[in-house]
Order: sequence, then structure tokens, then C-alpha cells
Amino acid sequence: MFENLSERLGGVFDRLTKQGALSEDDVKTALREVRVALLEADVSLPVARDFVKAVQAKATGSAVTKSVTPGQQVIKIVHDELKHVLAGDDPDPGKLRIDNAPAPILMVGLQGSGKTTTTAKLAKRLHERERKRVLMASLDTNRPAAMEQLQVLGQQIGVDTLPIVKGETPVQIAKRAKQQATLGGYDVYMLDTAGRLHIDAELIAQAAEVRDVANPRETLLVVDGLTGQDAVNVATEFDDKIGVSGVVLTRMDGDGRGGAALSMRAVTGKPIKFVGLGEKMDALETFEPERIAGRILGMGDIVALVEKAQQTLEAEQAERMMKRFQKGQFNMNDLRQQLEQMIKMGGMEGMMGMMPGMGKMAKQVQDAGFDDKILTRQIALIQSMTKKERANPQILQASRKKRIAKGAGLEVSDLNKLLKMHRQMADMMKKMGKGGMLKKAMAGMF
Ligand code: GDP
Repeated sequence: MFENLSERLGGVFDRLTKQGALSEDDVKTALREVRVALLEADVSLPVARDFVKAVQAKATGSAVTKSVTPGQQVIKIVHDELKHVLAGDDPDPGKLRIDNAPAPILMVGLQGSGKTTTTAKLAKRLHERERKRVLMASLDTNRPAAMEQLQVLGQQIGVDTLPIVKGETPVQIAKRAKQQATLGGYDVYMLDTAGRLHIDAELIAQAAEVRDVANPRETLLVVDGLTGQDAVNVATEFDDKIGVSGVVLTRMDGDGRGGAALSMRAVTGKPIKFVGLGEKMDALETFEPERIAGRILGMGDIVALVEKAQQTLEAEQAERMMKRFQKGQFNMNDLRQQLEQMIKMGGMEGMMGMMPGMGKMAKQVQDAGFDDKILTRQIALIQSMTKKERANPQILQASRKKRIAKGAGLEVSDLNKLLKMHRQMADMMKKMGKGGMLKKAMAGMF
């Protein structure tokens, strides 16, 4: 999968890394080529456009570290953006919610998408890797062959299937599966619903009816990855009408252009949980955005190099900052950085939780009139200071104070509170620096 896209991107980035300095135009040209490559891989237009925009914005704003070239940095940004497009903000897209036994999993999808095969593959995986007791049931009452297919697969992989009873409706089968799963002490029961060649009213009505009876913990939609944007359209429609919790993309072993994988999350908002990579029962993998992004770009070395350089840079910055704090050189720029960091880390509480031994300091800054709501106002005050004032807050006399407060739309008393807090924090940093506490606290932050 992704061979063509991978090759195209490889060409673009080879050229980029060969250049030493990059102008904005170089980056723009490269990103235009990236966009074309994405579209050729059948990524949907809005997704390709947003992708390039996001990379452009990050490439322009990113701090350049000396040890990597700008081209390498752009590759890292593209890599991270690929990961983001593939997975959104889910920390663990492959995880299934199947804790309360027996947990129903509803399998939906068009006929021929690989739904029955995937049901069995997933059952095997849960059985072997997670030691779950799994029961599978086919609800495809229109196609007896499909019911038998699941039974045969069950025997092959050593997973139980619900005995076939002729003449039952899908809802009756779903109810019987639940009963059997409960009585038989199964952890999971999987309902393989009927598929059709196209989405039609009857298919949807049947799946919805089964959903209402089974109340599934997961509703997994199986779609053929070879169908590109069609796969995304099918997913959108199924999600609108039935509600899906995750997607399985099959036939990713084929020479599909990969667009479905790249557009799915962004267009439908649903995570890809697994990918099918062949007809064999083992050919199912959890969807790992990091690995897939790596496969698409094929530039793992460069990504690792830039990551390392960034970590080194951050560590150096933190070290320099700590040395200054130990000497009592804690100026308004530092305070502003701390305040911004606090906002990023979920406010005062979030930050103090991350810094060992900070309970006392938390109380002191709070006593100094500090709370989360005024963080942004504090920053506004600092922004209203001149460069000189930020570096040497001790020069702030009455007239300067008035100007600064006015500039931030606040009172001088607000500024005084900020200054008091700053003095207390500077003192604290100095004291902590002597006892080695600062080092520990900073380690927690960076
Ligand atoms: P259903 O109609 O959706 O239940 O589809 P099936 O499960 O019967 O699958 C249709 C065909 O696709 C079968 O021949 C499967 O072996 C094949 N198939 C399913 N998943 C994959 C996959 O990930 N890769 C490949 N190459 N073939 C697959």
C-alpha cells in the first residue's frame, strides 16, 4: 500500500533535503507537489488542502535548530501532520471498548467488503492475543452461504459460532446470540450483519433494528480500501444512518492508492481501528498512525534525527534557564513563558501536579492574588511592557506602571500583584536552586 504516494513524496523530499537553505518559495513549491501527490493518491480535496496549509503554517513558524537542515525539518512536520490526519487526537485508535462481558460488537458494511472475513480475523485476534472468549453469529439470513462461511471460518480458527437456525430473523438471531453469550460466559459476541452491493433502505433498516436490540459497544464498519474516496463516502453514509464507532479498511495489501486511509478520519471523524492485509486469518493489523505515516514517507531516519535535535534543543534551553534562575535572574520574559506554559498544561492545578514539591509555592502564588482566570491578563500586562522593562522589572516606577496597566486595559493594582508574584517566584526559584529542588521541578516540566 501507499507505494505510489510514497515514491512521489520521496522524490519531492529528496530534492528538498539536497538544498542547504530553503526559501519560502522552495517550501511552497514542494508543498504544491505534495498536494498533487495526495490528490493522485485519491485523498479528498479538502483534506489535501488542509494538510498542505497546516504544514505550511508550521514550517513557517518552526524554530530552526542548527543540527538539522530546513528540508529535514519540513519532512518531520509532514510526518507529524500525516500522523494527525490519520489518527486525529486519539491516543490509541486500535483499542476496542469491550470490557463489560458479554460485549456486543456489530459488524456492518457492504457485500464483498470483507466483512465476514474481518469478523473472523478479529475474533481470532481477540481470542489469541487478548484471551477473550468470543462467540460469532451471522445475521445474513438472505445468504445461507454467508452463514456457512462464518461457521467454517469459526472452525478453522477455533472460535465458536452460534448454531444456525433456519427461518429466524436477524433480530431473533441477535437476541439468541446475546442469550447464548450470557449463559455461555463469553466475553465478546460479534454480530456479522447482512451486506448488500449498495446502501439501500432495507439494509439500513435491518442494521438499525439489530443495533437497537444489541446495543453494541462497538459498531465496526468494514470498507474496501481499494475503493478510495468511495470508501469514505460509504463510511459517511453508514455513520449518518447507523452510527459507527470505528472503521476497518480491508485490502490494504493491494496496490490501492491509499487515499481512503488518509481521508477517512478527517472526513468522517471516525477512527480507523484495523487494516486488513490479506486473505489469511492473521492478516489483520491494528492501525498504527506512527507506523503508517512512516511507511508513507519512508524517511524514518530523518524524522528520528529531527526529533533528537528538538529534544536536545529543548534540554539546552531548559538548562540555560535553570542556571539563570539559580542566580536569581528570573525576569518578566521568563514569567511570561511560565504563564504560557501553565495555560498549555491545563492551568495552575495541572502544572503544580507535574512539579514535585510545589505545593507550598502553589499556596504562596495563590495568596499573592493568583488564579487561573487571570493568567491571560497577566500575560497582557507583560506584553504591555517594553523590552527593557521586561528584562529589568525593578525599573518600574509609577509613570511606567500607569502606562503598562493602561496598555493592558487594567489597573495599576493588577500590575502590582503581578510584580509581587514575580518577586516571590524569583525568590522561590533561587531558594529551590540551592537545594537542587529546581532541577527536579524543571525536569517535571520539560
Ligand atoms: P463480505 O461479503 O463483506 O462478507 O466479504 P468476504 O469476507 O466474504 O470477503 C470477500 C473476499 O475478499 C474474500 O475472498 C476475502 O478473502 C477477501 N478479503 C477480505 N479481506 C481482505 C484483505 O484485507 N485483503 C485481501 N487481499 N483480500 C481480502
